[in-house]
Amino acid sequence: MTGKIVRVCIVILAALFIDTIAYSQKISPDEQKILNYIDAHKEDVYSLLQKVVDIESPTQNTAGVKKVGMELKGEFDAIGFKTRWLEMPAEMKRAGHLLAELDGTQGKRLLLLGHMDTVLSGEKFRRDGSRAYGTGSGDMKSGDVILLYALKALHAAGALKDTKIIVMYTGDEEASGKPVELSRGDMVAAARRSDLVLSFEGAVGNNATVGRRGSSSWTLEVAGQTGHSSRIFGERMGAGAIFEASRILNQFYEALHNEKYLTFNPSVFVGGSSEVLMNGSSGAATGKTNVVPNKVIIKGDLRFISEEQKESARAKMREIVAKNLPLTSAKISFEDGIPAMTPNEANFKLLRQLDQVSQDLGFGKVEAVDPGDRGAGDIAFVSHLAPSLDGLGGKGGNSHAPGEWADLESMPTLIKRAAILIYRLTR
Ligand SMILES: [Zn+2]
Repeated sequence: MTGKIVRVCIVILAALFIDTIAYSQKISPDEQKILNYIDAHKEDVYSLLQKVVDIESPTQNTAGVKKVGMELKGEFDAIGFKTRWLEMPAEMKRAGHLLAELDGTQGKRLLLLGHMDTVLSGEKFRRDGSRAYGTGSGDMKSGDVILLYALKALHAAGALKDTKIIVMYTGDEEASGKPVELSRGDMVAAARRSDLVLSFEGAVGNNATVGRRGSSSWTLEVAGQTGHSSRIFGERMGAGAIFEASRILNQFYEALHNEKYLTFNPSVFVGGSSEVLMNGSSGAATGKTNVVPNKVIIKGDLRFISEEQKESARAKMREIVAKNLPLTSAKISFEDGIPAMTPNEANFKLLRQLDQVSQDLGFGKVEAVDPGDRGAGDIAFVSHLAPSLDGLGGKGGNSHAPGEWADLESMPTLIKRAAILIYRLTR
């Protein structure tokens, strides 16, 4: 009986021993110190997440956004970063950004991105098993905390010494302040002082993002003749504004709906013969069934994977708009929003480095997220300046919607992955 127990114990010990050897071949002793810190601080990670989720910070609540920023600023001050709050002009109605910087010379110079603002507000932090509910928990306060704790772990292991790392948490990712030359000027300047850009927006599965589509908007205005409906299609009445607007939309669809990574969504369509008004994203119109409509306003978006794709789509749309039905006219105007993060070989190289880290840690393969599955993001303002990778943040669901949540269980794993990647890039 006793002999059996001893034999079982030997087998268990041998298994543990073999495990340790296998692990240590790929993970250096310094890296192991970083991982140990993360294992020892899980509950601190969750309580900081609770603290920042419980500060309401929709983009327009500038005081709330700044309060989140001050919470994070204290954390960065404590691990030796030089921190600054970058104010935006009052008329922009944006909180500004938090910048934290280490000014060493060793290894790659990194720019790490997060954002403090949320789209919605009102749901407090609530833990339910391995899920943390609350506005902004997934997008992207868990990512903000992952970024911070990766650096805290490096700091604890003495691995931040002499590194060059800039951290920027923007206060208006969800609705960038205008003009973007001003609201993203500091980010562009930081990218120009960096070799690589890592962004901690939400993770999709075990994967990361080498490309994100850009977004922009358009307004189509159509005019026509008006009068008795019995005379529509006639020599002096023509087709009317609503038929012309429908022709244009239908031809947009026919010409462009199959193009990979390109989407365009007419979101609001107002037309009639009087009081045709559009105010922001809402509209009103009146029309009688016996009157030909003479005015239409349509608004929509346009998403694209590169500047070339955006410009070529706009050119096709302009061409379609110009071929008017009888006695109608139309004009379209475009407004730039967020540029595209266009996938390139340098981004894929960075992805392979992350994949190596993940496999060394025993966390499995990391692949590229399909750019069609992601919206636009801040990283696209700088991804043309340096190799870039996004989606290093937390896992979760219901972003920009009620019931938003972050997955707590995967946070330590994601912090480890980020920390070891940053460690290796800065050696
Ligand atoms: Zn986000």
